[in-house]
Amino acid sequence: MGEGEIRKRLFGTNGVRGIVGQDMNPELVLRIGAALGSMRRGRIAVGRDTRTSGAALASALQAGVMASGSDVVDLGILPTPALQYIVRGRFIAGAMVTASHNPPEYNGVKIIDTDGTEMGDREVIQLEDRLFSHQFELAPWNRVGRQTFAPNLVEEYLAAVPGHFASGTGEGLTVVVDPGSGAGARTTPEILTRMGCRVHTLNATLDGTFPNRAPEPSAEGLEPLAQMVKATHAALGLAHDGDADRTVFVDEKGRYIEENREFALIARSMCREMKGVVVAPVSTSRIIEEVAGESGCSVDYTAVGSIYVARRMMDLIAGGTPVVMGGEGNGGLIYPGHQFCRDGALTAAKMVSLLALSGTPLSEMADSLPRYHMIKEKIRTGDARHLVAGLIERFRSEKPDLTDGMRLNRDDSWALIRASGTEPLVRITVESRRENEAGDLLGEIRDAIRGIAGSRSDPEIP
Ligand code: MG
Repeated sequence: MGEGEIRKRLFGTNGVRGIVGQDMNPELVLRIGAALGSMRRGRIAVGRDTRTSGAALASALQAGVMASGSDVVDLGILPTPALQYIVRGRFIAGAMVTASHNPPEYNGVKIIDTDGTEMGDREVIQLEDRLFSHQFELAPWNRVGRQTFAPNLVEEYLAAVPGHFASGTGEGLTVVVDPGSGAGARTTPEILTRMGCRVHTLNATLDGTFPNRAPEPSAEGLEPLAQMVKATHAALGLAHDGDADRTVFVDEKGRYIEENREFALIARSMCREMKGVVVAPVSTSRIIEEVAGESGCSVDYTAVGSIYVARRMMDLIAGGTPVVMGGEGNGGLIYPGHQFCRDGALTAAKMVSLLALSGTPLSEMADSLPRYHMIKEKIRTGDARHLVAGLIERFRSEKPDLTDGMRLNRDDSWALIRASGTEPLVRITVESRRENEAGDLLGEIRDAIRGIAGSRSDPEIP
């Protein structure tokens, strides 16, 4: 994990998150608002996803901002990337009340910088310092900030996403959209309709109890989507997480497309259009390297976290290196021509465009990708950092990549071992072209962990 990640006490890779009524409450969020308003003078946009606690927390956040003398503009319920798009260049900062893919009892806050990206580690640490030391610059009565409501600003985003494609791109395509009762219900069906698609929806009522499926769009919750795709003879089905920065797909046969393969499909088509670099965290499947390489493109690896991907993309572009796209192997993809954050609606629109232009069924496109076998495992241990340090020592002769934890790169396989930032465990990912090789490498790492653990900790190895 990045150096800033270690120094942050409250904010993780994706903002602050917690269970409502326990570690996430209006008092904490009010202090976040007051700290943000004390650091940034001007207009701050506030949005939220559909969670039941959203109105209470967004109100507290706005109260904190206004008390410190900054103005708030309440955008209401909208996807995180829509808020990011609206903030860029127009607001001094933004704040999104969301817990993304977490279960309904969670909520949180993500701070957005004036360029539309998630606020960087350095400033987040400053914000935390203020918050913990109660260093707020509260305004006197005649300088308290004002509140305005602008739920229609989302229109800019509704126009921007289809604007990247030729008009009528989606004509003739039937698409089923499952926003999972989350914020994407406000935007994605409308965006795809504007692109010319025939759109069916399910779970498209804004509902913070998430009655029909969890906010995480995992394969198990998407059976109704798969059924509806088949029943309506749709070209594809898509689902978002709770704040619609991520998109996953099912093909016309109702089969779930694993997210690294989704990334590969889109990267393959974009790399055919331009030469450059694809940016991805070290946890990403090697399939991206393979499809990028076919078109003479390469992959640049970052620490795990979409903010690190986005910042690297911006740095590369600033230094004159062409960047094709960025993304994580979880359906969160970033398009530099649009904005430097994960964008679920643009990912949906890209896939529609890909299908429309190729004229090939999605199942056929997905099946044409190379096969990789990935295994993920968590090992509980009292001292995760000690364990990772021991593994780095143990595999030193192979010169592992230390961008984030340890990534061991071999000819036909690789492994990533990282300490969790929030739980007492290490996460292991191994991948190979051949299933048995992935299993063998995992076994080798388990053996190494047994050797390192000694008496200091007691890792629970499955
Ligand atoms: Mg999300």
